Amino acid sequence: MFALAGTVVDSRGAIQDHAVVVDGNVISAVLPVGELESLGVDEVYGGKGYLVMPGLINAHTHVAMAKFRGLGENLPTEQWLEEIIWPMEREWKPKEIRRWALLGMAEALANGSTTINDHYFFAEEIAEVARKLGIRAFIGQTVMDEVDFPLARPEEGFRFFKRWWRKDELVTPTLAPHATNTVSYELMVELGEAARDCGARVHMHVSQSQTEVKEVKKRYGVLPIELLQRAGLLNSLFIGVHGIYMSGKEKELYARSGATLVHCPTSNLMLEGRTADVGSLHTLGVNLALGNDSPNPTGILDMFAEMRAALLASGMTSNKRIHSREALNMATIGGARALGMEAGVLREGALADLVLLKADKPWFLPEEGANVVGSARGSDVSVVVVNGEVVYRDGLFTRLGKTLDEIWAEGKSFKTGQEI
Ligand SMILES: [Zn+2]
Repeated sequence: MFALAGTVVDSRGAIQDHAVVVDGNVISAVLPVGELESLGVDEVYGGKGYLVMPGLINAHTHVAMAKFRGLGENLPTEQWLEEIIWPMEREWKPKEIRRWALLGMAEALANGSTTINDHYFFAEEIAEVARKLGIRAFIGQTVMDEVDFPLARPEEGFRFFKRWWRKDELVTPTLAPHATNTVSYELMVELGEAARDCGARVHMHVSQSQTEVKEVKKRYGVLPIELLQRAGLLNSLFIGVHGIYMSGKEKELYARSGATLVHCPTSNLMLEGRTADVGSLHTLGVNLALGNDSPNPTGILDMFAEMRAALLASGMTSNKRIHSREALNMATIGGARALGMEAGVLREGALADLVLLKADKPWFLPEEGANVVGSARGSDVSVVVVNGEVVYRDGLFTRLGKTLDEIWAEGKSFKTGQEI
């Protein structure tokens, strides 16, 4: 039993001089620091000048794409994908992807993400890396059948899913169709049935470009969200990503379905120059989560920066701006709900996925904890707890026995295309 102490912050507010007690893999209590002594905890991390928060849930990532960071800047989605990304992705080798997945995941974890929801090829390799690092990971093997892409064969998606379903405490497989214009209707129906059979999540890009909307309209005579409903995919197990080009009718349909929309403002602004209308979606009651998408094109795997981007971008796309509390909610409770986890909030019984921030810095003044979304950054994170285990502490990834500096140095010496 151990505790994290300081100002305790979640999307409900902040309380000073409190501690979050961890017993096994859950939070056993949240209480005033003065009451810790009587509990006989083994160790207390933090104290005055620290913030304790729920671990951030990075609800849409492609961590291995750290390899492509910075490439294809300012291109619209389809051109970026077809001219820059897909040609390079066809060259991936399994051992190489392990290295880049580790770099991406280490970056996300060190910046306070305790959970990632990843969508990529070589899911098997990515799952193994997650297990070694100790991050909680929902992982889907990307599948497409409307594009000739050998790495995205549907059979491999189902194979990976079956191999990992209910096999590991930290890794949960998802079903991961690429997008509404790159996956056939028949495959969507098959994936929807498979998901409903066992309660698995379906993780999919939706309405992310005008080309996607046009292609779906031309092929099926309906809009992407209507197509998802027709295919039986649109329900509370569905995690759609982006939703930039949803019509008013589609937004209402989405809200009624109970599906989650993952907002990725940084990526959306870089590729499309606009984002989903989160203000309206929030008002309609859609469960909203938040994700970094790939480090290319966003440049970061830092959910603090993403929360800030969500806050800033909300005034651009919608006349209903969101509050910083909602941005924090998306990065915590919204993500947890999307993935079916009892997490994202600091209360007894919730999963002990936590972060401790060193907040004795000018940018937290005048009142630490009052403005986390506006002030905090990933580099303020000092301790990360996943499933009740300290997996990162002051720069050291405890399971790997390596520091952030060592992982960075190894990544720097690694040449693109080299196998390890
Ligand atoms: Zn994506």
